[in-house]
Amino acid sequence: MLDLVQLTFLSLVVGLSVTMLTNLGTTIYLHRSLAHKSLTLKTPLAFLCRLGLWLSTGIRPRQWVAVHRKHHVFTDQEGDPHSPVLLGWKKVQFMNVALYRRTANDASTVARYAKDIPRTKIDRLLFDHALLGLALGLGSLIAIFGPTCADKFAPKVDKIKILSSQKLFNSKNIDLITPRIIIEQIDLLEKEII
Ligand SMILES: [Zn+2]
Repeated sequence: MLDLVQLTFLSLVVGLSVTMLTNLGTTIYLHRSLAHKSLTLKTPLAFLCRLGLWLSTGIRPRQWVAVHRKHHVFTDQEGDPHSPVLLGWKKVQFMNVALYRRTANDASTVARYAKDIPRTKIDRLLFDHALLGLALGLGSLIAIFGPTCADKFAPKVDKIKILSSQKLFNSKNIDLITPRIIIEQIDLLEKEII
């Protein structure tokens, strides 16, 4: 059972780790490997990067590559998808997702700048469904670390009785814990203490 401080610490560690892995996936896989072809990743590692990015961001690699290559072609000139010189630092910092999506969703840009990354069968079935990736990724984190187990959020004190509908009835419906059940559980606790 974790107390609030431990839970907060765990959340920070998990959050920073996911962010760090996503950044590594972006810089090594999307940027260096796919966009610039300056290194080649072994297939299993490339697949892991792709899977991790799909689960944490929903990004489609060929779109990211197209946006990035266009940025290099038009750096700080008309046509750059996210130039702070043209659009201002604040806009690029705070509206970056919208700026990215505007260019990423332009089919002609993707066709022109990411010709070498075709849309494959696995893209159609899985990786092109960004919301599915995000739902699976976030859902897994919530299932593992989130409020799905009453034990995790109970105060760390001796002789505490946790009433969890999941444990008592294998159900998330807390209405199943009626006043009668609470009294029964208190009686049980008293007997355990005595
Ligand atoms: Zn680059």
